[in-house]
Amino acid sequence: MPGFEIFGDEERRQVQDVLDTGVLFRYGFDAARKGHWKAKTFESEFAARLGAAHCHLCSSGSAALNVALAACGVGYGDEVVVPPFTFVATVEAVLLAGAVPVFAEIDETLCLDPRAVEQVLTPRTRAVIPVHMCGSMARIDALVDLCRRHRLVLIEDACQAVGGTFQGRALGTFGSMGCFSFDSVKTITCGEGGAVVTGHADLYRLAHQFSDHGHDHAQADRGAEGHPVLGMNCRISELNAAVGLAQLRKLDGILARQRETKQALKDALAACPAVTWRQVPDPEGDSATFLSFLLPDEERARRAAANLAAAGVDSCFFWYDNNWHYLRRWDHFRTLQSPARLPQTTLPNFAGLQEARVPVSDGIIGRTISMQIKLSWSDTDIASRGERMAAVLAKI
Ligand SMILES: *Cc1c(COP(=O)(O)O)cnc(C)c1O
Repeated sequence: MPGFEIFGDEERRQVQDVLDTGVLFRYGFDAARKGHWKAKTFESEFAARLGAAHCHLCSSGSAALNVALAACGVGYGDEVVVPPFTFVATVEAVLLAGAVPVFAEIDETLCLDPRAVEQVLTPRTRAVIPVHMCGSMARIDALVDLCRRHRLVLIEDACQAVGGTFQGRALGTFGSMGCFSFDSVKTITCGEGGAVVTGHADLYRLAHQFSDHGHDHAQADRGAEGHPVLGMNCRISELNAAVGLAQLRKLDGILARQRETKQALKDALAACPAVTWRQVPDPEGDSATFLSFLLPDEERARRAAANLAAAGVDSCFFWYDNNWHYLRRWDHFRTLQSPARLPQTTLPNFAGLQEARVPVSDGIIGRTISMQIKLSWSDTDIASRGERMAAVLAKI
């Protein structure tokens, strides 16, 4: 998965372009930058790659989520449906927007179950944020349909699923807005960076304005620009964008290698009866950054995770115990003392958040192991890994 494994001259050349001009800022300085517009170039290439009308690059995937919520007008008093299995940033973004996260169950796609979303809707529900976890997709067609029927805003958290598709269409382009992360461990990296994509010109305008203190970006003299909306600084620097540009141009190669590796490992585990695969609504569109599998029960999953580690099979995650990706371990919700003024009146009880009843998700995450697929593994590494995994998992 991590693009940092394949840094090379391409990244160095892009960064050198920026250093040679001394223009690290993405706006203005037209003459001094000698034709180098790294953020803008990334945006147009990424939008074209995804088939999205608009892309705005920002400082992180977390910022992208904040930008999307702000652009879509989701905030104080609104309820936003989120999965309990995600990187915690999805939930933080909802809280920091002044809205209330409402957890709905996942299914064996490891993403929101559309039928479970339907069950938690209230008159205050304003938006749904499915998270395309671990490189593969939610049942996005059903979620699009649900949001249309109930007139809800759909924001996709595609931070872990760059390059993934559903029925040929890029993940992140189904909702009003799609959010991506290019942080240091994602499939492609800017060092730090993120993006929103959208098909709506008005949401794009609000996104780039909000990300830059409301600047309307309407004229060359930055100091004289209007600021029609309240905003903040979610800007990316040209240096980070330059790294991302080189990485974006490697995306097809990354996906091809990940898919090949994943298939080889699945083949190696074909004779392990206890192992079932995570459901993938459209296998062709899996970006294959992870190999995720389920064991029959939590006890066997724990044993499998321990035995894989003992056999030297690294890069495996047992998410149920993971501090960052599953609700049960977000202990900071219990004692939440944020310096921001969080929506105490709409959400008096943060401890209640962590105690949300999601027994189906507990059951699924308690049985799931995901292995990150690395780009640095040689064919020999992959074969030996497959053998070691099969030896452990055949006996579980
Ligand atoms: C990485 C990630 C984010 C946050 O992205 P950053 O760039 O690290 O801020 C949000 N959601 C998910 C699902 C992620 O994996």
